[in-house]
Amino acid sequence: MSELNNENPVLIIGGGHSGISAALEITEAVDKKVYIVEKKSYIGGRVLQMYKYFPKLCPPFCGFEINTKRIKSSTEDNIKFLVSSVVEEINKEKDGTGYKVKIRQKPQYINDNCTVCGECAKVCPEDRPNDFNYDMDTTKAIYMPAISTFPLKYTVDENYCKFSACKKCESACKYGAINLNAKESIIELKVADIIFATGWKPYAVEKLENLGFGKFKNVITNVMMERLAADNGPTSGKILRPSDNKEVTNVAFIQCAGSRNENHLPYCSAICCMASLKQALYLREKTPASSPTIFYIDLRTPGRYENFLNKAESDKNIKFNKGIVGKISEDHATGDLLLDVEDMLSGKKIKFRAEMVVLAAGMRPNIKDDLSEIKIDGDIKIDIDENGFIFNENYEGGIFSAGVAKFPLDVYMSGQSATSAALSVIQHNAKL
Ligand SMILES: Cc1cc2nc3c(=O)[nH]c(=O)nc-3n(C[C@H](O)[C@H](O)[C@H](O)COP(=O)(O)OP(=O)(O)OC[C@H]3O[C@@H](n4cnc5c(N)ncnc54)[C@H](O)[C@@H]3O)c2cc1C
Repeated sequence: MSELNNENPVLIIGGGHSGISAALEITEAVDKKVYIVEKKSYIGGRVLQMYKYFPKLCPPFCGFEINTKRIKSSTEDNIKFLVSSVVEEINKEKDGTGYKVKIRQKPQYINDNCTVCGECAKVCPEDRPNDFNYDMDTTKAIYMPAISTFPLKYTVDENYCKFSACKKCESACKYGAINLNAKESIIELKVADIIFATGWKPYAVEKLENLGFGKFKNVITNVMMERLAADNGPTSGKILRPSDNKEVTNVAFIQCAGSRNENHLPYCSAICCMASLKQALYLREKTPASSPTIFYIDLRTPGRYENFLNKAESDKNIKFNKGIVGKISEDHATGDLLLDVEDMLSGKKIKFRAEMVVLAAGMRPNIKDDLSEIKIDGDIKIDIDENGFIFNENYEGGIFSAGVAKFPLDVYMSGQSATSAALSVIQHNAKL
């Protein structure tokens, strides 16, 4: 163990794969306290919402379980989680030794006595849209936010719970795990370093009016497709289209839905080609009679991911069309979608009928929106580029970034960037 000063903890904002990886890398290397502040009531980020992740196509829980085991064995509880929490203020210490941060944690209505028995949800009369499944189904107002959450417990949606007008869940809980009178708390910390690991959100593809998302029920996004394929998703893993729950065989995947477009996301989101190849394979695995078609401008599968493209191409039922989809309309009688495509190889305009369309929505970094909600001391330098990614590490100030806050990255590269941020923290601390 190094002799680093444990009075100068590290703050990590965002508890997705990148934030968790950075916390583990720091605490496994040196005796240092790390606080992870996570907006949601559980950690794990968007990776938990995948059915499987490339390149190995294992369920997200595999990697997540390894990480939660590492967290549980972390030295002297050096990793502290503040879930359902946001940073409200960051102020620089006058003597240059770090930052004072103010964190607001929502009321913790459920304590650690929760055994996830589910008796509370059985008596809850209120429904809410299930954001974990991108609103494709509902849960009760008291609910398990994801299948394998950490911390493993139920949570309460304040926008739907009727609190003192109901309280049925409190009476149903045999373990005294629910307190609907819980209050929010303010936590103040002094930290030496900050890592932003705030991740991404899918691009708002309804802005691409020609592609019909939000207008036609059977036009969905790639993140929704992950949940449709997932055994714990809204259709229990059957790929059924939203309008009539029909099992689909003829699905069109449309690449660069927003990405590489000056009016939307000018950059390549880097993972969408791999994600659509993966999802075409889901469809082939789940519905053997299926025949997906991928409409692309360029297929980008760099490095060893070329093998993954070869795998998809070797399945003759997966079709590839180098073409731009200019417009989607709906056949109202059947719910099918009619695509106007400019075939780039033949130069011809073609029509294509699909039972469902999956838009490869790009990844938009959260950090710019997040920073606008934090009151930050004017002296603190955080460089954001024109696309909203953090582009300059502040080595002297001890402010770093990891994962998709920094660049559009896959899980592997997010982990690598987290290791890099962890090393920067250790180096910065060695100079304090
Ligand atoms: C359709 C699709 C499929 C994909 N499939 C794969 C795949 O198969 N394999 C692969 O390698 N990669 C895949 N990816 C990429 C993968 O999702 C990312 O690499 C990964 O999510 C990056 O993790 P992260 O921790 O940087 O971000 P996130 O997963 O977004 O986690 C960020 C966390 O920070 C929290 N947060 C945000 N703002 C705040 C705030 N202000 N305060 C507190 N907390 C905050 C969020 O709630 C979240 O928990 C896919 C991406 C898409 C779009």
